[in-house]
Parts: sequence; C-alpha cells; structure tokens
Amino acid sequence: MIHINLLKFHYPEGEFRLHVPELTVERSEKVAVIGPSGSGKTTLLNLIAGIVTPLEGTVSVGDVKVSSLPDVARRDFRITNIGFVFQDFELLDYLNVIDNVLHPYRITGALGLDKEVKERAAALAQEMGIGDKLRRPSNDLSHGEKQRAAICRALLPHPKLLLADEATGNLDPANKTRILDLLFRSVEDHNATLLAVTHDHELLKRFDRVIDFQDFQGDNDSSQTLTDTE
Ligand code: ADP
Ligand code: MG
Repeated sequence: MIHINLLKFHYPEGEFRLHVPELTVERSEKVAVIGPSGSGKTTLLNLIAGIVTPLEGTVSVGDVKVSSLPDVARRDFRITNIGFVFQDFELLDYLNVIDNVLHPYRITGALGLDKEVKERAAALAQEMGIGDKLRRPSNDLSHGEKQRAAICRALLPHPKLLLADEATGNLDPANKTRILDLLFRSVEDHNATLLAVTHDHELLKRFDRVIDFQDFQGDNDSSQTLTDTE
C-alpha cells in the first residue's frame, strides 16, 4: 500500500534531514510510528500524503507514484484516497463542525456528496460524541472535540489509507479508548491500511507492527536503518 524507496528530504531551512532507504507497508496492515519529538514523524506522513515531495527517491501509494504527480493531481489523489488526521487538526475556523467534516466532498468532484453521506457524517459525529455540536463554529470546540471532528473528516470517505498523527493525543482516557475502537473498527471494516503516529506505548499492542524513528533521521548513511521493533 505504501512503498518508499531511497527517499531524501529536507526543508529549505533548518538542519533537519530525513533519509528513508526503504519502507513498505502492506495493504490492510496497521502500523504504529513512534519516535522522539522532532525526529520527522509528521514529515514522513506529509511525504506519504504528497503534501510535501521528496528531493530524491519515490513515494508510492497503491499503484500510484505520488511523488511524481503534478500538484493538482497529487492533491486530488490525497483527498480521494487518503484520510489524514493532522496533528494540529487543520479544521477551517470559519466553518462549523459538519461543514468541516464534509469539506473534502466539497473540494473535489471525485467524492460524491449526497444525502446518504450527510446522514453518515451526522451518525459518525454522534458516535464520536460530538453529535450535538454539528452547527458549532469549529473554533468554539475544545481540543479533544476538534480532534474528534478531524477524525470524522478523515474517516467519512472510507479512505484506503488512513494516516493518523497523534490522533488521540488530546483525549481523556475514556474517550481515547472509545475513539480508538471506532478508528480501528472503521479501518478493519474497510480493509484500510493504517499508519498512526503515537506516543502512547500502551496502544502499541493493537498494531501489527511498530516503526521506531529513533535512528531514522540525519544524513549519515551508517545510521540510516529503520528499527523494526516487531
Ligand atoms: P515529529 O513529528 O517527529 O515531531 P516533524 O516531522 O514535525 O517531527 O519535524 C521534524 C523536523 O523538521 C523538526 O526539527 C522540525 O522543527 C523541522 N520542521 C518541520 N516543519 C518544518 C518546516 N516547514 N520548515 C523547516 N523545518 C521544519
Ligand atoms: Mg509530529
């Protein structure tokens, strides 16, 4: 589902260097990504989603070489195929909750917005415990509520690939278990692939595999092995 080959990336500014010689995630696999803050976990997810592109090497999702697509095609590919729960949510402040959840459908014709989708959106929000906040400006939500709205937006189109960047980081323990159960169930029901950044080591047993970012950064080829803690 995901294949990365000989990837090198750095931002125009700063010292950060990412080098991924090879990384494969199979279809329907559930993989956790762990590692210290600043090690490049979010950057890796952005590379897989095609939000940024590598300076060298390739990123493929399914049969599509995302890193070679022109900007507009890459964006459309992401919106239609990848659910992304952003670390900082990236909700649109000027939209209410339901309009945020439906937003991917409004910015690409490839996802058809109809009554059934709207009903599913409302039901999903209900399950997530924000069903009574659909008309609230997203700005008025608590951190945990914003996070749940962001999860609803990512899950609604039943993406084949779900990228979750610390998706339960702002939730209290009871909500965390409930939301995580929902997220896993949605992924399993649709045979989706899950790549989830987490700092929560208790959760790791729920994944098929763990990718540890510890040694997975820098420009020094001798230290560029991805540690697989399976
Ligand atoms: P993580 O998610 O593991 O905490 P990130 O991928 O967010 O790490 O960041 C990796 C490194 O890249 C950090 O040193 C961060 O400061 C830097 N970085 C992130 N975004 C940018 C950017 N847009 N421009 C320059 N440096 C960045
Ligand atoms: Mg991050």
